[in-house]
Amino acid sequence: MRKLSDKLLEWGYLLRDRVLASKAHEQLKSPLLCRTEKWLDEMQSSEERLHDNQEKAWYDVAHHLYDQWRNLQENTTSVPIGEHTLPPLPYKYNALEPAISARIMELHHDIHHKSYVDGLNKAELALQEARKNNDYDLIKHWERELAFNGAGHYLHTLFWSIMSPKGGKPDSELLSEIQKSFESFNKFKQQFTNAANKVEGSGWAILVWSPVSRRLEILQAEKHQNLSQWDIVPLLAIDVWEHAYYLQYENKRKQYIENWWSIVNWNEVNKRFMKARQLTWKPF
Ligand code: MN
Repeated sequence: MRKLSDKLLEWGYLLRDRVLASKAHEQLKSPLLCRTEKWLDEMQSSEERLHDNQEKAWYDVAHHLYDQWRNLQENTTSVPIGEHTLPPLPYKYNALEPAISARIMELHHDIHHKSYVDGLNKAELALQEARKNNDYDLIKHWERELAFNGAGHYLHTLFWSIMSPKGGKPDSELLSEIQKSFESFNKFKQQFTNAANKVEGSGWAILVWSPVSRRLEILQAEKHQNLSQWDIVPLLAIDVWEHAYYLQYENKRKQYIENWWSIVNWNEVNKRFMKARQLTWKPF
């Protein structure tokens, strides 16, 4: 048992002032401010003497807050774990009428999209907890939630932004790529329309850029995801189909995965990461 160091409190107040004064995007700034203030309150209201464990926990929070502060400063503006936010609609609810009614927009944005944001935050925090406790009993459940809600959030964020009351036309660069990939704009439109029309159950039709084929493609997504998130870039992947290991490991998939770690080409993963991180959209 000992006294909480004044230094930590002092440092906390300094951090709070810096965050307050920061010119970063409000949506990234305010969660950090909230968290810092909550942390300061908790430390202040605690008894003067405390267990080492408690102090360590507060130092851990300090490190975490510091990381987030650095993100703000460097303007890398990453969304902290569990702190996704609902992006505001870039136009009024009734702006897309008569194609889409105001009532649909209101329900779709405020209720449905919001629930994906909440679900994604919940899944991210649950996985953070799992890492902390090294407890992965519910990994399948939370990965499912992460994919479903993450894909829901990212796709809706995309969806609002690619609509506008006045519509528009692809510019010459995109148009010539569409012509290259689909023969003509009309054929692209036909395929996209049919893909959208024939999605089994609920889902999406999505125009994508493939960095490998260097062409555009049209894909269907059932629900939002089927265990992926759209609008992400794969960096590291392991094939766990039976054809990848059965001949050698039979049913011992775990052994295969353990050995696989020793042959990961991190140079290539580094390269992919450095390139992929350059692609950023506005954070939500
Ligand atoms: Mn929707």
